[in-house]
Amino acid sequence: MAKVAYFDNNATTCVAPEVMEAMLPYLRELYGNPSSIHTFGGQVAARIEEARERLAALLGAEPQEILFTSCGTESDSTAIYSAIRSLPKRRHIITSRVEHPAVQNVCQWLADREGYRLTEVGVDSHGRLDMDQLRQAVDDDTAVVTLMWANNETGTIFPVEEAAALAHLHGAIFHTDAVQAVGKLPIDLAAGHIDMLSLSGHKLHAPKGIGALYVRRGTRFVPFLRGGHQESNRRAGTEAVPGIIALGRAADLAAERIDDENTRVRALRDRLEKGLLATCPDARINGDTAHRLPNTTNISFEFIEGEAILLLLDQEGICASSGSACTTGSLEPSHVLRAMGVPFTAAHGSVRFSLSCYTTDAEVDRVLKVMPGIVRRLREISPFGRETLRTA
Ligand SMILES: *Cc1c(COP(=O)(O)O)cnc(C)c1O
Repeated sequence: MAKVAYFDNNATTCVAPEVMEAMLPYLRELYGNPSSIHTFGGQVAARIEEARERLAALLGAEPQEILFTSCGTESDSTAIYSAIRSLPKRRHIITSRVEHPAVQNVCQWLADREGYRLTEVGVDSHGRLDMDQLRQAVDDDTAVVTLMWANNETGTIFPVEEAAALAHLHGAIFHTDAVQAVGKLPIDLAAGHIDMLSLSGHKLHAPKGIGALYVRRGTRFVPFLRGGHQESNRRAGTEAVPGIIALGRAADLAAERIDDENTRVRALRDRLEKGLLATCPDARINGDTAHRLPNTTNISFEFIEGEAILLLLDQEGICASSGSACTTGSLEPSHVLRAMGVPFTAAHGSVRFSLSCYTTDAEVDRVLKVMPGIVRRLREISPFGRETLRTA
C-alpha cells in the first residue's frame, strides 16, 4: 500500500526524526539510573534537567515548575487529585461538558464515589464556553476548576486565562488540559494565572508514554504517585529517561515550528476545509472558526455515517477520525457535539481531520479528490439521504 495520508494528529503524532535521534543514546549506551551515585548513571541527571529547561522555555515557565509524568492522562489525574487533597474542606469541582475523558471521567468518579458537587459548564452551538455559567458556578466551596485549553475534537479554544482569573477570585485552583494546545498555540504561563497545566509527548512528535505537568511555584501540591524521591518528591518512579530526553527535544522543535503551524499548516487546513465544503453538499463545520487550533477541522456530512466515511477513506489509505479516538467503537455520537447541540443527523456524520507540520499539499489533494465520491456513494444508500430527497 502507498504511504498513508495521515490526518489524525490529534489522536497521536509521528515521532520527529530529530527526537528519535536524541533519545536513542539513552536506549543504547546511556541506560544508567539518574539517581545513581556512580558517574555512569549520574551524568544522565544533568540531561534530564536540560530537557526540563527546554520544556519550561516552551511554556514560559521555570524548570522547577515542570514534573514529568507518563502521559497526559496521568497529568490530568495528578492535577485534579492534588487540588482536591490540597483544599480538603472544599467539596465542589467545576469542569466543562466537552472535556477529554481523562478529565471528564475523573470528575464524574469523584462526584459518584466521593460525593463531590460537580458543575459541568456548557457550551454554545459553536463550542464556546458559557462564561456566565462559569462565573455563577464558582464559589468559596470550589476546590478546582479544570477546563481544556483546546478541544481535541473541534479545535475550539477556551479563554482559559480569563477562567483562571475567575477561579482565583474564590481561591480555587485552576487546571488546564493543554494536551492539544502545546506546540500549536503560543503559551506564556509566567504572565498568567494558570496553576496547573497538562501536556502529552505523543501529541507533539515525542513518543507515547511521556507527559508533563506544570505546577506553578507556590501552588499547594499533593503527589499522586508516592515512593522514591524523584521529581523533587512530587512524582515517584524511576525517570523515563528516553521519553524525557525526547520530550525536551520535541519542545525545542515545537518552539521552532509554531510559526509554521500557524501559517503553512493553517493554510493547508483551510484549503482542505474550503475544498470539502465546496465539493460536498450539506457539509458544515463544527467548532468556533474564530478561535480554533490551526491544525484541526471537524466537518459534518449530513445524513451519512462518519464511521462509514472513515472506512472508505481508510480504503484510500487516508487516516482520519470521527472525533475522539477514545470513543471509537461506540455508536454514541460524540459528547462534544452533543453538548454543542449539533443535530443527530449531523453529529453522526462528523469527521475530524487533524494536520501537522508533516502534512503535505499532496496529502490534502488526495482527500479532496476522493471525498466528493465517497459522500455521494454513501448518500445514495443512506436512509436519511432518501428521506431528505423526498422532502426536499
Ligand atoms: C490525547 C489527550 C489526552 C490524553 O493524553 P495521553 O497522553 O494519551 O494520556 C488528554 N487530553 C486531551 C485533550 C487529549 O487530546
